[in-house]
Order: sequence, then structure tokens, then C-alpha cells
Amino acid sequence: NAVVHWFKCDLRTRDNKGLHLASEKAKSAGVPLIAMYLVSPQDFQAHLTSPARVDFILRSLEVLKADLSELDIPLYVETVEKRKQIPHRIVELCEKWGVSHIFCNTEYEVDELRREAALTRNCLQRGIAFATVPDTCVVSPGELSSKGTGSQFAVYSPWFRAWCAYLNSHQSDLNEYPRPEKNPISARECFKDLFECPIPSAPPNKQLSVEEKKRFRSMWPPGEHEAAQRLQKFISQRINKYSESRNLPAGNSTAVISVHLASGTLAARTCIGEARNANTSKSMDAGNPNIMSWISEIAWRDFYKHVLAHWPYICMSKSFKPEYTDIHWEYNAEHFQAWTEGKTGYPIVDAAMRQLNHTGYMHNRCRMIVASFLSKDLLIDWRMGERYFMEHLIDGDFASNNGGWGFSSSTGVDPQPYFRIFNPLLQSEKFDLDGAYIKKWVPELRDLKGGKNGPVHDPYGRKADNVAEKNGYPRPVVEHKFARDRALARYKEGLGRA
Ligand code: FAD
Repeated sequence: NAVVHWFKCDLRTRDNKGLHLASEKAKSAGVPLIAMYLVSPQDFQAHLTSPARVDFILRSLEVLKADLSELDIPLYVETVEKRKQIPHRIVELCEKWGVSHIFCNTEYEVDELRREAALTRNCLQRGIAFATVPDTCVVSPGELSSKGTGSQFAVYSPWFRAWCAYLNSHQSDLNEYPRPEKNPISARECFKDLFECPIPSAPPNKQLSVEEKKRFRSMWPPGEHEAAQRLQKFISQRINKYSESRNLPAGNSTAVISVHLASGTLAARTCIGEARNANTSKSMDAGNPNIMSWISEIAWRDFYKHVLAHWPYICMSKSFKPEYTDIHWEYNAEHFQAWTEGKTGYPIVDAAMRQLNHTGYMHNRCRMIVASFLSKDLLIDWRMGERYFMEHLIDGDFASNNGGWGFSSSTGVDPQPYFRIFNPLLQSEKFDLDGAYIKKWVPELRDLKGGKNGPVHDPYGRKADNVAEKNGYPRPVVEHKFARDRALARYKEGLGRA
């Protein structure tokens, strides 16, 4: 007999609810715990998972396998080609191993819920107990509802107040789940081949080139120990300047832990627990303003997952706000390509897109700027940008990405109003005044001056001695004033048809 924990987006031993419950069950039944992860090339394809993210997941599995092995727990990893086969394959393996109980942490995307429903049915038929438990959010979907209507909030601020109040009165929800206990020695004998099974390489549809592998691997070390170190370093060294510096993309001012939250090498609960411990107040909405500000950002991640759990149609490429479905978009392939390549002629946009293409990551302020630029200045369907992000981000997460695109394109939950259109030039001067971020990512503009009215922000509109032209930097693909008026008219027209 044995108990299984099925790993998905929770690749850690620390503070992992499903893993902890599986370990407790194994201990009380006096049987070994087996850990399992199934690689699904079709899921990677359907969810547009970037090759960099796949590589990060596989590398994190190596770390996880080593950590579990120290506890005498085997991590069995297998590639299942057809994703529909996953529930069947899990039951087949569990029958072979004599498993009585399977545990996993819940994911809220529609495909994943359907898969878990199928697994529940398969397990029922075979007499295996299957438990899927909420773990990925700090406060689980379903726990908060608007006092007036009793339904899920569609606006962040009142939702956040409810989120804080909930945690203030459920402080113990932030207690970490203990790491699993060591397996009985006999597990090594019984499941010898599971200990020896290798982590597969990336499926053919998600391979990185040799150069990319080297680049991403040096930038993004995998696994939970790296995640814990990053969190610790951020909280001890940088969190106290978060409010004033979080919007400046040139500085190393944010935690840069999204890759770990997306793959589950770090729990959001751990982040909030550590932030609370560093705060002068135990309440979520009191104490050090910098820490409160960071807590509210982690809460945005919860908010978007709650939205996903309550309005699953957003998984079907539908706008959260149906009245925004009929906007007449421009499908200008050249403009889209210029955007993807960082060649729009708007330095802050181009710097951000080049950061994404090179590192798999982009600063939050820049994500908002490029998303607004694509959906409003270029008037290109936001879903094309959402897709491009997922295909390239190392921290790609459906709920946060969809939420961010919905916010910036004004089609999502609690969005920026459609008539608020970022001026890329003003954003550039406000958040990258000396042009350090632009100069880092757009070498053609390195010799241009920053500062207020500096040509680095607008190399063709301001005196720049033809530097941009000489260095082959493109001219702006659209004029902002024209683009703004066009977007306002099209959004209004679309709303009028709804
Ligand atoms: P910090 O500022 O240190 O914040 C800590 C954590 O809080 C982040 O790691 C993240 O988990 C969460 N967080 C912060 N801001 C947000 C936010 N606006 N929405 C949701 N969660 C937030 N985040 C992703 O993890 N995956 C995505 O695919 C993703 N796509 C986005 C697309 C767009 C268009 C926009 C505007 C935002 C997107 N975000 C996404 C949110 C945000 O940009 C990143 O989480 C953040 O930049 C990560 O950097 P950090 O870890 O240094 O964040």
C-alpha cells in the first residue's frame, strides 16, 4: 500500500498543503508516500506555456527530486502524450503501486477542473480516495463575498478590504504546513525503480536552443531554495523602499519572484507570512506602508484567481466585460510584428518588449505600458498580446496575465476606464526619467540624453542629432495623438453596438 501526492504547479516541499496532507495520511496508515509529476506536451501546447517556463519547471523538478529523495520519497516523472489520458494513467499507476489515497492541490483553470473531475470519477470506480485541496491562494476562492449581494466581488478595492479582514481574523491560515516526514526505510526497497526514474527533457514542441538554454539557466536558477533566498533577500534588503521604487523598471526594486509563484516553488502564503513577520503590525492593512503595499500586490494574484474561479468563461478567450466584445480592431500584421520585436519607435515600449524577449520577464509597469500600447495605440486585439505574453513569459500565469491584459485594454475585471490611455512618452519620463532602462535594452539610443524633455524618450521628436536614424532605430509606427483619438472612437462605437 502507498499514498500519492500528485505535483502540478506546486513544485516544493515547504508549506505545501496537499503534500503535507498526503504525508500525514501515509504516516497514519503506516505506508510510504510516493510523489508523482506528469509532463503533458498537449497541455503545454494548449496553454501556450513558453519553452523557458517548461525548462524552468523541468529544472525545478530536478531540485524537488533531490529534496524528496533525502526524505526517502521517490518522485516519479512520466510524459503522457495525450492529455485526455492523464486521469486514466494516474489510476493505472496507482493500481500498480497499490495506492489507497491520492492528494493534489487545486488549480482553477477550466481544463484542469475538467481533468480533476474525470480523475474523481475514475478513482471512485476503482475505490481510490482522491482529494484535491485549495492551496495556491492565500485566501481560497469562495471564502470572500460582497456583504451586500453575497456574490463574488468584481472590483479590487472592496475585495481587498474583505481579504485583509479575513486574514486579520484567521491569522493561523498563514501558518506554514510542515515539510513531509521521512518515508519508512522500506520505501527505498519497494519503489527502487521510481527513485531511479530520470526527469525527461522538454517535449519537441517546447525545446530551447543551446544559446537560450544557457541564457535562461544563468538568469533563472530553479527550485524552492532559490525562491526562499530571493524572498528573504527582498524582505531584508529592499521591501522598505517598495512603495517609492516599485514602478521604476531600471532599479532592482521588486521581489522578482513571480516565476517561483507561477511554478509553485514558493507559496503565496509563505510570502504573506514572511511579510507579516517583518511588519510592525500583524494586520494586513496596518503597519509599515511599504510592506502593506507589497502585501496588496500579492493579493492581486489572489484576486485574479478568485475571478477565474467565479467566471470561468474568461478561459474561453472571452472578455470579462461582454459589452467590449465588439470593438473593431486593426489586425495590422506589420504593427504587431514591430511590437513583438521591440521596433515600434517608442523607446519605452521597445525596451520592455526586448526585455521580455531576452529574459522571459518584464517589469509590471512596463507590462501595463506595452499592453496599453498594443490595445489602444495600435488598436490590436488584446488577446494577441495576451497570447504573445504567455508564449514568452517565464512566469506566465493564466489568471494574472488575463487580468493584466483585461485591465490595460479596459475589457477585463475592474479595468482602467477605456478613455484613460497611457501616453508612452509621459510614462517614459515619469518612470524612467534618466532613460537607464531604455538604454539598457535599446542600444541604438545609448548615447542620447535622458531627463525631462530628453531625446532618449522621443528620439525623432526632439533634437537628437540624427543618432537614432544613424543607429537604425525605427521611426514611430503610429502617431500617439492620432492613435488616441482613433481608440476613443472605436471603443465608443463598440460600446454603442453592445
Ligand atoms: P512584485 O512587485 O515583487 O510583487 C510580488 C508578487 O505579487 C508577484 O510576483 C506576483 O505574484 C504578484 N503581483 C504583483 N503585481 C501583480 C499584478 N498586477 N497582478 C497579479 N499579481 C501581481 N504576473 C504573473 O505572475 N504572470 C503573468 O503572466 C503576468 N502577466 C501580466 C500581464 C500584464 C499585461 C500585466 C499588466 C501584469 C501581469 N502580471 C503577471 C503581473 C505582474 O506584472 C507580475 O506579477 C510582476 O511584474 C512580477 O514581478 P515581481 O515578482 O518582482 O513582483
